[in-house]
Amino acid sequence: MKTTFLKKLAIGIAIIYAPVQSMAWGTQGHRICGQIAESYLTPQARKAIKEILGNESIAMASNWADFIKSDPDYSYLSSWHYIDFDKAYTLPEMQDFLAKDTKVDAYTKLNFLIGELKKKDISKQNKLLYLRMLIHIIEDVHQPMHTAHTDDKGGNDFKVNWFNTPTNLHSVWDSQLIDFQQLSYTEYASNINHTTLEERREWQKAPISQWLYESNQIAEKIYTEIKPGDTLNYKYNFTHLETLNQQLLKAGVRLAGVLNQLFS
Ligand SMILES: [Zn+2]
Repeated sequence: MKTTFLKKLAIGIAIIYAPVQSMAWGTQGHRICGQIAESYLTPQARKAIKEILGNESIAMASNWADFIKSDPDYSYLSSWHYIDFDKAYTLPEMQDFLAKDTKVDAYTKLNFLIGELKKKDISKQNKLLYLRMLIHIIEDVHQPMHTAHTDDKGGNDFKVNWFNTPTNLHSVWDSQLIDFQQLSYTEYASNINHTTLEERREWQKAPISQWLYESNQIAEKIYTEIKPGDTLNYKYNFTHLETLNQQLLKAGVRLAGVLNQLFS
């Protein structure tokens, strides 16, 4: 009797907390990217960033933009986390689309943030805000469902089950796949952080349009593989883990590249 009550209580708690699943790489995903980025900073960039973030690591600073979503003072930042594309663009089509983009989205705001952080006369307060946002958004746009479709809100309205738990496609890519690996963010980062100098150079020299193109291509493939209501489990993990890890790794390496350029 007691066991049944505790079981019911546990299920009740699980249901209450289920909708809290985040709207971006989950907490872990962001920290993994941030941890990887730290490993590729130049000494000058490391020092300049420490002057801005203080004792907050890049891994921990990565979560700030999601944590402040509950504060209405920051609601103007909510559309900075993603950019929607309604079909699979070719790279030239995407570049053309982005050249005309005037919306408040991840692409225009990444350019804004990089431009602001280059300025010498920026206030301390803005420097901190912009750096935390830049870190977060570079990470976010490597989560394929942040470059997905408008009509299902980047997969948020695309309902699926992760094993027995009702969730959505966005959340599977934010959190469930990562959490399934059962690693701390530092364990996860050291497990996937293997790159060659050649790879890093190639990933870092790619313009933002290329990052978005790659991410969108993955999202488009994700959409074709399943339909709403499907149950995703071991097989989905097995067939997508490599892509997931590659995106986390690229995000970290590219974040380091941008930070080194800004602060070295
Ligand atoms: Zn985000």
